[in-house]
Formats: sequence, C-alpha cells, structure tokens
Amino acid sequence: MENLFHAGQINGTSGYEEAAAQGIMAGINAALKIQGKEPFVLDRSEAYIGVLIDDLVTKGTQEPYRMFTSRAEYRLLLRHDNADRRLMKYGYRYGLISEQPWRKLQEKEDSITGTLAYLDKKMVGPDTLAKILSRPDSTFDHLLAIDAELSQRHLSKEGKDQVEIEVKYKGYIERQHIQIEKFKKMEDYKIPSWVDYQNISELRKEARQKLLQIRPASLAQASRISGVSPADISILMIHLAGKGKR
Ligand SMILES: Cc1cc2nc3c(=O)[nH]c(=O)nc-3n(C[C@H](O)[C@H](O)[C@H](O)COP(=O)(O)OP(=O)(O)OC[C@H]3O[C@@H](n4cnc5c(N)ncnc54)[C@H](O)[C@@H]3O)c2cc1C
Repeated sequence: MENLFHAGQINGTSGYEEAAAQGIMAGINAALKIQGKEPFVLDRSEAYIGVLIDDLVTKGTQEPYRMFTSRAEYRLLLRHDNADRRLMKYGYRYGLISEQPWRKLQEKEDSITGTLAYLDKKMVGPDTLAKILSRPDSTFDHLLAIDAELSQRHLSKEGKDQVEIEVKYKGYIERQHIQIEKFKKMEDYKIPSWVDYQNISELRKEARQKLLQIRPASLAQASRISGVSPADISILMIHLAGKGKR
C-alpha cells in the first residue's frame, strides 16, 4: 500500500531486533519517498535485514517470524565482524553516518587491502606470509614475530581479525562470492509490473495465485516463493523473453 510504512509485529515478526531492523528500513524508505528518491532495498547477500524482509515477502508467516542465522544462505559473509565494511556505505549515503567514522572505515579498508597484498607477496623461506597465516595454528601475531616490516603497518585489532579471516577462509569466501554473483544475476532480472499472470496459461494454478498475490520484483524473488516451481520460473522467463522486455 503506497505511502504506508510499517514494521514489527504487524508484519508477522516477533522479537525486538526484528522490529528494530524493519523500523530503520521503514524510516529510511519513508524519508526517501518524501524526497522522491528510489527506495532502499538490502538483498539477501548483503544483510540479515535483507533475508528477513525477503522471507516475509516471499514466504509469509504461519507463526511469528524470528531471524535465525540458518535462514541466510550467504552467512559466511554476513558476519558481525564485517558489518561496518558491508553496510556503513549505506548509512553514509543516507546521512546516518557522519564523516569521522566514515573516514575511519576508509583508513581501515586501506590498511586491510594493503596488508593482504603485502602478505601475498612477502616471502619468508619457501612460503609467502599469506601461506604461513593460512595454516590452522598460525595467527597474525605469529607473523609479527617473524616479519619486522609487518609491525610497521599499524593495523588495529579489528583490522588484524579481518586479515586473518580473509586469509584463512579464502577458498570458502571466494566460493560464496561466486554464488552471490549468480544470485545477483537472477536478482537483476526484474519482473515488470505489466506482467499479467492471469493470462500465462502454462503456469500451474498455485503458482499463478502466489505470483498474483506477492507480485515479486525479480525472477530470483519469484523463485523463492513456496509453491512456485523451477518449471514455473522457466515458463515465466520464456513469457518475459517473448514480450521482449525485462
Ligand atoms: C513479556 C514479553 C517478553 C519479551 N521478550 C523478548 C525478548 O527477550 N527478546 C526479544 O527480542 N523480544 C521479546 N519480546 C517480543 C518483543 O517485545 C516484540 O516482538 C517487539 O516489541 C514488537 O515490536 P512492535 O514495534 O512490533 O510492537 P510493540 O512494541 O507492541 O509496539 C506497538 C505499539 O503500538 C501501540 N498501539 C497499539 N494500538 C494502537 C492504536 N490503535 N493507536 C496507537 N497506538 C497503538 C502500542 O501501544 C505499542 O506502543 C517479548 C515480548 C513480551 C510480551
């Protein structure tokens, strides 16, 4: 319903955090609407808020919804230790984060990126520092003990943690980024508002009803609706391609 912004139990959730998460999104989006700007949508790969709202939209609620980490398919990247690196850009964009913490984050990013590049190329014996750090029993502080140059980089405790996590879990993190790229492609496949589900006769009845009710914004969102099968998604794709619009 246009111009109505609400959050919390009225949307079917239980819990303080769920209410607060939706509250900030409703507030930001109400303000953007008044300013005539595009809405702010977080997707499932960016934040638990994205997972929460997408679940509420596509799955509905039989009982009060609570956010569990297991609901997020990209939870390897949705960590509390990198919340600032994932989300502060949005806070800054919408005027909710002031210059000082934003600049501090830029400095932190620069030192993490610089250190990662340094670890990748600095050899100690037959191995790079990155290779040594990737060993299960190795920590960033061990590297400081074997490479004096590294200690001049003045990395904060949080910065060290980020470097350690990125090096140790590199393979898993890269794999998750590839999955997210695929997800974003589907997410970018927008379903225009003119789609007339009633007249796509090949769709199964249940799928048609759900699509009419939910009106998903993208093909990816349509695929997450319970009762919409991969075959229904194929039919929808053919229909959209046939209409020559995306
Ligand atoms: C006993 C108890 C313990 C809980 N413990 C936890 C916990 O430990 N952890 C946790 O995460 N969650 C807990 N919860 C759940 C959590 O409190 C709720 O999920 C959360 O507060 C819901 O927020 P909300 O904004 O949706 O609703 P509410 O906080 O209920 O806000 C709704 C507001 O609307 C007002 N209102 C209602 N009707 C009208 C009207 N007609 N006109 C104007 N105003 C109206 C009400 O007065 C109220 O202020 C607990 C809940 C209860 C009852």
